[in-house]
Amino acid sequence: MPTTFKGGIHPSEMKELTSEKPFEFLPLPDQIFLPLSQHAGKQALLLKKKGDAVKKGETIAEADGFISAPVHSPVSGKINKIISLLTLTGTRSDAVVINRTDTEEEESMEPLNPDSIARGQIIERVKQAGIVGQGGAAFPTYVKLSPPPDKKIDYVILNACECEPYLTRDYRLLIEKTEEVIAGLKLILKATGVSTGIIGIEDNKPEAIKQLKTYLNKEENILLKTLKTKYPQGAEKMLIKAVTGRETPPGKLPFDVGCIIQNVGTAVSVYNAVVKGKPQTHAFITVSGLGIKEPKNLIVPVGTPLKNIIDYCGGVKDNAKKIIAGGPMMGFAQFDLNSPVTKAASGILVLTEKETSTTKESNCLNCGRCLSVCPLNLAPTRLYKFARFNKFEEAIDIGILSCMECGTCAYNCPAGIPLVQWVRFGKRKSSALLKQKTN
Ligand code: SF4
Ligand code: SF4
Repeated sequence: MPTTFKGGIHPSEMKELTSEKPFEFLPLPDQIFLPLSQHAGKQALLLKKKGDAVKKGETIAEADGFISAPVHSPVSGKINKIISLLTLTGTRSDAVVINRTDTEEEESMEPLNPDSIARGQIIERVKQAGIVGQGGAAFPTYVKLSPPPDKKIDYVILNACECEPYLTRDYRLLIEKTEEVIAGLKLILKATGVSTGIIGIEDNKPEAIKQLKTYLNKEENILLKTLKTKYPQGAEKMLIKAVTGRETPPGKLPFDVGCIIQNVGTAVSVYNAVVKGKPQTHAFITVSGLGIKEPKNLIVPVGTPLKNIIDYCGGVKDNAKKIIAGGPMMGFAQFDLNSPVTKAASGILVLTEKETSTTKESNCLNCGRCLSVCPLNLAPTRLYKFARFNKFEEAIDIGILSCMECGTCAYNCPAGIPLVQWVRFGKRKSSALLKQKTN
């Protein structure tokens, strides 16, 4: 019987649009817009200037501090200019515009033997390769592989849930690159000195489960756990609870309950960096939604504008209404097709009116539906009211800062109240208030 967590919802999956579409390489764009901030933490420090030639794989910006990551060019070309742009998550970043040249020169790192490599070497290579988590937050992976020494880690959990509707890129990676996913997980286990790996996967992916079972026959220390299909099963706290039974208390991290979580795409990037010497220069993405003419799974050079991707997928249909980067539950609405894809991008969705239609907002009906589905046992209706009426002290007291912005409450609200938007606003204000108090 698959395990799960309390609460959650079952939105239409819509995965059939792309689940049988193997990855295709997007043709190289003529111009790349490479943000220096594609990760959580400080923007990378530019090493080049306008007019410089760059090679594919060359480091063009280095990590600036502990929580930062280097940026490498996905193409050979010449730096045309340095600009400021909006990234897919709506934050501003400096970016290098590279005009691609046809002669492709490549700079890569020395391939390392995964059997004889030392723990520290793996972490150093992951850092050098600029790998960031591909589960959404884009946290530099090498930091996650270096838990504080006082934290005893029991499990590395590979998050293969892909619980957001529409997205199938993790599924395709599990089918098409099974060996790389498992080899990447083994490298992560070695890097962290943890003996047990667990792959958590929802039961709506029978083909991937079957294939993983075949490959895992030889791997005694990697367990496969099939989980019930339910949103947000892939959220860190829900995943930890479902596969280990452990509760992550509010304000605590997976480290605190003996777990490290990594995404499927991150495992593939770790494999590529160590075994092939390749930095993270491409993103694996699903392009889907009823508003795009040809839904696909693509391997895209980071820095590619959305427009090139949409054109390659046949363009948008007449009834297209909204473009989202990421999944429909936690993704970000886009309003500029020049915004470029970044390392942690997982999907581009073009949705129609039918897919985005929301109930017209009315007063709260006190129905309690938002309370019954919140996976963190929060009271969304109270959080929303406190945020709306600027009662941030009260909002903090009932846990607003623990909210993971999963959108489950808003999806289930019959009054059409944008609960998650209000809670997000309240979280920002509450954090500012706490900061002000501690200063
Ligand atoms: S967005 Fe926050 S309050 Fe709403 S269901 Fe998710 S965790 Fe709960
Ligand atoms: S689900 Fe919506 S209408 Fe029902 S209690 Fe929550 S906020 Fe109010």
